[in-house]
Amino acid sequence: MRRYLLDGTICDESGEGFRELLSQAYREKVRPLCLCCEPAVPMYIADIGDQLVIKRMPLTGGKHDPACPSYEPPYELSGLGPLMGGAIKLDPVAGTASLKFDFSLSKRGPVSRLDGETAQTDSVRNNSKKLSLRGLLHFLWHESGLTEWTAHWSGKRHWWQVYHHLSEAARLMEVRGEALAERLFIPEPFRVDDKAAIEQRRAQKLGPLFLAASGTKRLMVLVGEIKEFADARNGRQIVIKHMPGFRLYLEEPAWRSLQRRFETELMLWQSGDTSHLMAIMTVGGTSAGVATVNEVALMTVTEHWLPIENAYEQQLVEHVARLRMKSVKGLRFNLARGQPLANIILPEAKPLPMAMYLVPPDAGEGFEVMLGEMNEARPDLASWIWRVSDGDMPSLPPPR
Ligand SMILES: [Zn+2]
Repeated sequence: MRRYLLDGTICDESGEGFRELLSQAYREKVRPLCLCCEPAVPMYIADIGDQLVIKRMPLTGGKHDPACPSYEPPYELSGLGPLMGGAIKLDPVAGTASLKFDFSLSKRGPVSRLDGETAQTDSVRNNSKKLSLRGLLHFLWHESGLTEWTAHWSGKRHWWQVYHHLSEAARLMEVRGEALAERLFIPEPFRVDDKAAIEQRRAQKLGPLFLAASGTKRLMVLVGEIKEFADARNGRQIVIKHMPGFRLYLEEPAWRSLQRRFETELMLWQSGDTSHLMAIMTVGGTSAGVATVNEVALMTVTEHWLPIENAYEQQLVEHVARLRMKSVKGLRFNLARGQPLANIILPEAKPLPMAMYLVPPDAGEGFEVMLGEMNEARPDLASWIWRVSDGDMPSLPPPR
């Protein structure tokens, strides 16, 4: 049972009158406090598609009690740790995160061709001062709570939830003093009977990309699920789900480079019937009305929208997703593939929260050394390690 202090009143979320108190606090912009520990943890009220929910502010999950649903495992066990204070800076008073990107949100001259060189470096960069495109997607996913899962939620997470949680998380992010939401487009769930209104909202947001401009052009960040890469005369047309009638143009060299860089992501997507392929891209437009991709990164997610980066991780994530206890998927952000991270954390495992590590078959000696150091630094966590070259996955912790 979660207890909050709402505008001077102690209440729990199943208590009588809680909804009314919550609406009132939302209207009056009162910050709820979670009473799971001392001192109480400030939170905020979000409007998730007509429903008010109390959410944690960016990167405050560590302040909650491990038994509290708002608790988050230590950030240094994922790729998030090295970015804190550098690429991601928090304003604890405003409750916002200010981000630095290593990709550009503007482009000089007409956007007409793809910069293959820029696109290629994204996956190999390992910089803690600026977020890569993939890093931004991971941060959005993390802050949206889409890395968390319990078997109780089976069948209850769809694009509708993903869209609302991503949009809400983006509202607490800034880039160069501008709200990220201003520069981010995520397609809302498409409904035929609302087609005209949806297309109008989309045109309003993306329209400025197609205005003729000399000098520097603005780019937008688009996050969406890939439906298909359709043939085009000289390249590919990217079709995004929930954006019927909208096409993004990708030139042939950029398409070839994308296939090389994201070979694993594409294979994981194509080999499963239930997985989704997410894309994050910077998008520009020509005055002729053609939308073009400037930079792109891909991420495969399972049927429950949990990110996976290879087939072993997929196997692990799908197994753990059947547990009733909560799991938190660790994300790589800017970390290179040769560096370990806690692939999954089970914060409710007993007697200690458990960090689950996967050692890929091609891991070098340095990988084991780093893994050992990570483990030693966290005596408060139990660890579970699957060394893939040793064979099958070890058994999972027993359900509680
Ligand atoms: Zn709490």
